[in-house]
Amino acid sequence: MFAKTILQLSQGLQDRQFSAVEIATLFLDRIEKFSNLNAFLDINRDTSLKQAKAADKRLAERRANPLTGIPIAHKDIFVTTDFKSTAGSKMLANYKSPFNATIVDNLQSAGMVSLGKLNCDEFAMGSSNENSFYGPVLNPWDKEHVPGGSSGGSAAAVSARLVPAATATDTGGSIREPAAFCGITGVKPTYGRASRWGMIAFASSLDQGGIMCSSAEEAGLIFNSMLGFDSQDSTSVDRPPENFNRYIDKDLKELKIGIPREFFDSNIDNEVRVAIQAALQALEHAGMNLIEITLPNSHLGIPVYYVIAPAECSSNLSRYDGVRYGYRAEDHENLTEMIKKTRSEGFGKEPKRRIMIGTYVLSQGYYDAYYLKAQQVRQLIINDFSSAFLDCDIIAGPVTAETAFKLGDKIKDPLSMYQSDFYTIPASLAGIPAMSIPCGFSSTGLPIGLQLMGNYFEEAKLLGVAHSYQKLTDWHTKMPDGIS
Ligand code: GLN
Repeated sequence: MFAKTILQLSQGLQDRQFSAVEIATLFLDRIEKFSNLNAFLDINRDTSLKQAKAADKRLAERRANPLTGIPIAHKDIFVTTDFKSTAGSKMLANYKSPFNATIVDNLQSAGMVSLGKLNCDEFAMGSSNENSFYGPVLNPWDKEHVPGGSSGGSAAAVSARLVPAATATDTGGSIREPAAFCGITGVKPTYGRASRWGMIAFASSLDQGGIMCSSAEEAGLIFNSMLGFDSQDSTSVDRPPENFNRYIDKDLKELKIGIPREFFDSNIDNEVRVAIQAALQALEHAGMNLIEITLPNSHLGIPVYYVIAPAECSSNLSRYDGVRYGYRAEDHENLTEMIKKTRSEGFGKEPKRRIMIGTYVLSQGYYDAYYLKAQQVRQLIINDFSSAFLDCDIIAGPVTAETAFKLGDKIKDPLSMYQSDFYTIPASLAGIPAMSIPCGFSSTGLPIGLQLMGNYFEEAKLLGVAHSYQKLTDWHTKMPDGIS
């Protein structure tokens, strides 16, 4: 049963083969059985079963939609009233929000059953999930390897089938990189599509919610309920509702797939290169045309990102002062000391590193040299994509230069950790939709991801291309050993 796709589960629920309570119980049992992966930070059986019962009632009354009764879990960056919301930080240990993130509410309104909250890097800062205060998540394909980050809990949980789908967030690659490392489908929509209301802020001009699941078709189905205008989020885009699966099974022959020359440099591991090239050939066999394009400023993505993201995080994280909510240090003489101690004890190494960099690049005298310059180069990266999309419909390339690395391998070397997002950061800086789909395995059995990027608001086309690849191949159906 746990191996069924969301579409199969949905059909079974409609046909009364099983109930939402049965499905929720099965996945809750799996979450407990595989707790060694450390994917979940909070579960609450009673709450989940109550939601499942409500879903069964809706199904019985024929008021259901295709997602009613399907379990979901949320990255612990989305605030929830039913579960703790920690952002992977000591700063928010035991924090319970008085309201739900809009995305959580949207999926709950569709009848999805929340199974709990998923581990992540502290305030979504990281590429390996080793920056979580609650310990690292293990990669279900090989427990000595990282699941990727920062949405490592979401990726590991979907890959081990502890839940059929999970929300995640992507600021510089945190949906695509862990999806690639764990062999699942992960999609980040256009900036402004997913409400940021109730999504704990890291770098507001980059943060974007998205989904992890087994296939592009499932992602489209979930997007239909999850995305949409939200007046509570000032950067939310007001567009008419659309069917994100409208390109599925459309004839996509003649579409032009742009291959960025800069994405196949010497840094890329040979097994990854071979898998990506085979995937591109498969798209060509499906009738699409491959053309070479150039994204000449993409190599500036990492330096630009590591000025802008810390700058925004230093501002966003200033709210954690021990006064209003979250952790408060004990033993202090006065307010200043209380704030100082709270922040020293509550934040881990990586947020502290970024707060310091961010404060520096925003300080008088350095603002123009670093922050302003980074914003100007960000515009050049955006312009690269605009020119590229004049010639092609979708851009394809690797997600990462290598497969999942070993736990502990990069944690002491922040610069090499930052390099993990070389191919994902440009799309984040531009705010375009992008995704990762499984396209093969290394000789040691670790998954490899193919990255697809679309023009603004062209998620449907993006998902259509991914779906045509998934019709031709079965990589997305593979599951790690030892999860039954
Ligand atoms: N790995 C990147 C970082 O540490 C991206 C994180 C993310 O997308 N949330 O900032």
